[in-house]
Amino acid sequence: MKIEIISTGDELITGQILDTNANWLCQQLFSQGLQPQRLHTVADNLNDLVALFIESSQRSDVVLVNGGLGPTSDDLSAQAAAVAMQVPLVLNHSWLKTMEQKFAERGRVMAKANIKQAMLPQSSEVIDNANGTACGFSFTFNQARFYFTPGVPHEFKLMFSSQIWPDIATRFALNNKLMQYKITTFGLGESAIDDLIQDIVIPEQLHLGYRTASPEIEVKLISSDADAIKQVAQQIELKLADYMVFTSDESDTSAEKIQHLMLAKQATLALAESCTGGMIASNLVAIAGSSAYLDRAMVTYSNQAKQDLVQVSAETLSNHGAVSEATAIEMAKGAQRSANSDYALSVTGIAGPGGGSESKPVGTVAFALATPTETYSQMLVLPGKSRTMTRKIASAIALDMLRRHLQDLPVCGHYDFAPEWQAN
Ligand code: ATP
Ligand code: MG
Repeated sequence: MKIEIISTGDELITGQILDTNANWLCQQLFSQGLQPQRLHTVADNLNDLVALFIESSQRSDVVLVNGGLGPTSDDLSAQAAAVAMQVPLVLNHSWLKTMEQKFAERGRVMAKANIKQAMLPQSSEVIDNANGTACGFSFTFNQARFYFTPGVPHEFKLMFSSQIWPDIATRFALNNKLMQYKITTFGLGESAIDDLIQDIVIPEQLHLGYRTASPEIEVKLISSDADAIKQVAQQIELKLADYMVFTSDESDTSAEKIQHLMLAKQATLALAESCTGGMIASNLVAIAGSSAYLDRAMVTYSNQAKQDLVQVSAETLSNHGAVSEATAIEMAKGAQRSANSDYALSVTGIAGPGGGSESKPVGTVAFALATPTETYSQMLVLPGKSRTMTRKIASAIALDMLRRHLQDLPVCGHYDFAPEWQAN
């Protein structure tokens, strides 16, 4: 099936806004195994719109047009469609009534200018807009089915999901749909992953790709052949077992995977974060329902805070330093005690760019995981990373320790980019 997306508006052309609608649409289509052939961005210019509508009507099956349905004179989409098809704009009485009701419900009088929003190209079908006054509309022109939607993102998204997609799906027999399966890994770079799986034979009808979703790396399998995906995925998962965090069948993020694992265990978690400054907590609470297992997260940034909130001893701090396994262990145990939680994670490190020393360079980070029976710790070095990247990787390693423990794997994994710290 040939699909084109046309985004309209001077705001897009002048760089005032990003075309997040087209981006969202591409994601929706891709999740259904479809890819548009072309994406266009057109200014609010009648001739350009008309020419493009005619062109795309002759080569595509579906044309999705976004924007330019407002009441003002720069909103030209309906007019351009009418000119392209050589039909008049006709008042849609039913939508006019709907608009008048919408205004009345909000206690407002409809401006005359809004009548324009009910003027549709002859024989268009209305696409209801539950969230706004601009209706969408659709029609068949030459070989293509056209769908027009307003630019306001929450209006457009609902209209696509609830009306346009179901219409496309019933109108077109969707054969050879592409499917995607993702294996998200942590600990290796792209080339190291590629080396590990290079013996696996990839059938012609399957596309293997990588995507860096820093600090994780996704291995993507795309094909319309479900069996081929399954077969190759099994082989890759075996080879990457030590580095695999989750697959697209299980969850969308490692935080979500941890949530599944924690809920299955009915266990609770507390955090004591220093250099990550709440980033671990923020990752976890991004997933709805995290309150069912995350009890508390403390940002214990200063030495004093480490003593006050999680009872790290002054002795440990002066003997080993704030960035040490001994301190990380006391932070985790202190957090576990204060929350009376099953598990606690702690991180303390030097995010840089200042603060490093010869024995503990920038990027040195200590981690601990307190479990109901034992406390695990490690100190790693993340060399040559920005402050933000150091904090991101440190957060990911801490969560990886917890995940590994919950999956009965050794708590301390191997990370190519984070060698163990060595005393010198
Ligand atoms: P309206 O009926 O509200 O006037 P419209 O179809 O004329 O809708 P615009 O006037 O172009 O759309 O834009 C309305 C709002 O939607 C603006 O806030 C604009 O920033 C946003 N918007 C428009 N196009 C896009 C797009 N492609 N991606 C993201 N946001 C967009
Ligand atoms: Mg507008």
